[in-house]
Amino acid sequence: MNHNGYFSDFGGAFLPEILMATFDELTTAFKNAKADPNFWREYATLMSTYSCRPTPLTLAENLTRHFGGARIYVKREDLNHTGAHKANNVMGQGLLVKRMGKTRVIAETGAGQHGVATATMAARFGFDCTIYMGEVDVERQRPNVFWMEQLGAEVIPVKDGTRILKDAINEAFRDWVSNMDNTHYVLGTACGPHPFPEMVAWFQSIIGQEARAQVLEREGKLPRSIYACVGGGSNAMGIFSGFLDDATVELVGVEAGGRGLDTGAHASRLCSGDAAIGVAQGYKTYFLQDAEGQMKETHSIAAGLDYVGVSPILSHLKETGRARFAVATDREVVEAMRLTIRREGLIPALESAHAFVQAFKDAPNMAPDEVIIINQSGRGDKDIFTVADAFQDPGWREFIIKKAKQYHA
Ligand SMILES: *Cc1c(COP(=O)(O)O)cnc(C)c1O
Repeated sequence: MNHNGYFSDFGGAFLPEILMATFDELTTAFKNAKADPNFWREYATLMSTYSCRPTPLTLAENLTRHFGGARIYVKREDLNHTGAHKANNVMGQGLLVKRMGKTRVIAETGAGQHGVATATMAARFGFDCTIYMGEVDVERQRPNVFWMEQLGAEVIPVKDGTRILKDAINEAFRDWVSNMDNTHYVLGTACGPHPFPEMVAWFQSIIGQEARAQVLEREGKLPRSIYACVGGGSNAMGIFSGFLDDATVELVGVEAGGRGLDTGAHASRLCSGDAAIGVAQGYKTYFLQDAEGQMKETHSIAAGLDYVGVSPILSHLKETGRARFAVATDREVVEAMRLTIRREGLIPALESAHAFVQAFKDAPNMAPDEVIIINQSGRGDKDIFTVADAFQDPGWREFIIKKAKQYHA
């Protein structure tokens, strides 16, 4: 389905001349690594000794009984080191950086999760590390900034523009252009110019490979449907990859419906009329943009789903009808989270809870011998203030209001 970084008409690499050589170098390194079975073996070994791979596939017995339909399994990416599937991508890129002989990594981060994961990888491999973060986000994400610095990263607050993620992206590219010789830019999701979407999806495909083998062993058959939340699209592509060639397995991506699609306060690029196909940030996909190509404001209760673009591979899967896309509103997400915590003792990240919402809508309409898998992309510990506020826990109220000032800025 892929030719030169294109998936249908999506993807590509729209780059300034000065970055061409670096991207060629990266593409070659990636192709060689992919063709070398030792590379994947080294990666899988690293992930099984440094993170928690293979992550378990948990049967959610109580939720299954509660909904009275399909058997609900949960793929436990929350058990990865640093608490989410992001570890798969950054550790894989770390191995590639070592192979390319580079010594420094840079990244940009909004919510801070990708920054912490990248700083962790850099500490493990002994790379120098610089993290760009909008000044507003630095204020909102103090705990993550603290850990990045303890891990040895230099965190640079970006004071340009609106001082958020997109300004940090510009700054990171500026750094890369002047330091290409020794520096690799660790992109955090299956977006951006070729080869990033394909490369990040490949590292994350370890999720789907494991899940397919695990469900076959446990159930003796393939699942009916797979559910994953969609920010940039890396955890979704990761689990979908294992089942792409199984035509009977339905792939379901769930975007942030925010306060509702009709309010404009959401981050749905694949299900709303607010998005259009365009070229930005070096690649072609659906972006939340107006007729003039101006990017729109996005909103989600989950910071990790709050992005204007989406993986070109997912745009392709939508176009071809191979995957189905849905949205979950903030309110539905909070309810699904409450139920999952109480019934199953699992604490999904707010991002992951989007996938639970759609699975809970579909499961009761399925037969008890059918099987579904939800990708729990991360753990919810980081969301304590947002969740406690949403649950309106009175004991926490005062503490939260005080904390929320710095958290939500
Ligand atoms: C970052 C993040 C996401 C969104 O990123 P994708 O690339 O769409 O997977 C989802 N879940 C969690 C827990 C995250 O930290």
